[in-house]
Amino acid sequence: MLWTKYFIPTVKEVPAEATAASHQLMIRAGLIRQVAAGAYTYLPLGYRVLQNATAIIREEMNRAGAIELHMPAMHPIEWWEETGRVEAMGDTLVHLSDKPFRKGTVLGPTHEEVITEIARAYLKSHKHLPVAFYQIQTKFRDEARPKSGVLRTREFLMKDAYSFHADKVSLDRTYEEMYQAYCRIYQRCGLPYQVVEADSGPIGGDASHEFMVVCDAGEDQLVRAADGSSNASLERAAVGPVDDPGCDELQALQEVHTPGLSTIDQVSAFLKCRPEDMIKTLVYSADGACVVALVRGDHEVNEAKLRRYLGAKSLQLASAKEIEAVTGAAVGYAGPVGLKARIIADQAVTVMHNAVTGANKTDYHVIGVNPDRDFEMPESADIRYPTQADRSPSGAPLFFEKCIEVGHVFKLGTKYSAAMSATFANEAGEIKPMIMGCYGIGVNRIVAAAIEAFHDGAGIRWPMGIAPFKVIIVALDVRDEQVMQTASTLHDRLEKQGIEVLLDDRDARPGFKFKDADLIGIPIRLTVGRKSLADGVIEFKRRDADEVRKIKPDEAIAFVMDEVGRG
Ligand code: ATP
Ligand code: MG
Repeated sequence: MLWTKYFIPTVKEVPAEATAASHQLMIRAGLIRQVAAGAYTYLPLGYRVLQNATAIIREEMNRAGAIELHMPAMHPIEWWEETGRVEAMGDTLVHLSDKPFRKGTVLGPTHEEVITEIARAYLKSHKHLPVAFYQIQTKFRDEARPKSGVLRTREFLMKDAYSFHADKVSLDRTYEEMYQAYCRIYQRCGLPYQVVEADSGPIGGDASHEFMVVCDAGEDQLVRAADGSSNASLERAAVGPVDDPGCDELQALQEVHTPGLSTIDQVSAFLKCRPEDMIKTLVYSADGACVVALVRGDHEVNEAKLRRYLGAKSLQLASAKEIEAVTGAAVGYAGPVGLKARIIADQAVTVMHNAVTGANKTDYHVIGVNPDRDFEMPESADIRYPTQADRSPSGAPLFFEKCIEVGHVFKLGTKYSAAMSATFANEAGEIKPMIMGCYGIGVNRIVAAAIEAFHDGAGIRWPMGIAPFKVIIVALDVRDEQVMQTASTLHDRLEKQGIEVLLDDRDARPGFKFKDADLIGIPIRLTVGRKSLADGVIEFKRRDADEVRKIKPDEAIAFVMDEVGRG
């Protein structure tokens, strides 16, 4: 490809809101152009990278035995109503207006409903199972805050796969195959990834892993135990028990007047105690039943953990009315002492002494509260997020790292098949819901994560696997016939070998051309100039190394092929 015949609109200025390195560099290198908030055009160079990632994904999915199909972006809302996800997705689900579309059309944020309808229609017998389908298709999610360029957009490309099984053993086997396929995909894309245990979220399921790329632009966090015993998403990370600090003297329980002070910060400032001396009392509605969660004042309840502990389908904070009905006080004055409700205490609460908490009386708190003495805690569990001060269940320190979620695999179980009656006849002739797995990859995030992971001050440094071109030939002195002839011959011979190569044939200063080459990040650069040709050589440089090597033009092809092979 000749630069002058291609379209690489590199730019100097980036908009102020582009703070992530990948966002800035994708604009500067002419890879993307914003169309609307959360929607981007992939310009030719950017599209090549996306296509390269897609090709790797497709090859590995096929290798893992998944079968490709293509489902529409427009779905009838009725299917989403069958699974209860119109409500669960809330504002994220994009609804089309009734005109010119039929009433109740939504744009798919994911395709469980559509694929489950296919399973319901065609997969009737255990003989049809197991089967895994996949597609590479545009998804729509009305993200509240589309940000960081293509890392979080409202329209994005996902590889989504779904598997159907007669039993759990079969699901486990496919899950493992997909997991291995994911490892190969990220490895071939050159991404430094980690696999973490993940929460499967409100859509259920009993096992889930996320594939993460550690970098500062990431919106997610992973929590790793120093002894290697665990690596999990922040949502999932287990917290080890907090030691009992002991206490010389248990104070007497005493009510104090705290007029208008209802938050942890207000009360701790007023009573001159630390947030960690307070017990935070939160009233929830779990599948319609009232449940009270207790955590230390400086800790946060992890609702996913609480919901899982309760085995509840839905969990939300109770309304002000419900809270007042349970506590007999205004919101902000709830406490466990004398409370008649099911109480789940976080483990850290069980080792508190002389604590402060709400009095279940508007404008009052109690001090000198001692668990067990002043209230009972029949149920204690790990129901919170870890903090820097915590340890893993094995007792090791925890490291927190920001990361980008590039993929996710779930064991779904029968959530969708049961809701949509996707059943099959097992060997005994009994009708059962199919057991499902689902597996997603954010293709755009692979591109951005690669930039985040490898860029430097001069620009992008593509990993070989997804680079838009593997080689850039920078022709200096383009008006010199010998230079252009050597450069063109190299270009043609590399192309013949199947190597994607870009020849910068622009009539511009060397410094300008080198800057652009660094910015767009092609892994291998060959420089052909009049001076070095007079010495019978051209220059070879890798984007990820400083060394410049002089090689003979007729040795260049073998040399470059070797380097491309090394990745
Ligand atoms: P997140 O937590 O980042 O919102 P998610 O867990 O909701 O993502 P999944 O439903 O697991 O996303 O989708 C599968 C993959 O699709 C994710 O692992 C991610 O790589 C990608 N993805 C999800 N949402 C977006 C988005 N708004 N923009 C770009 N890629 C996305
Ligand atoms: Mg996810």
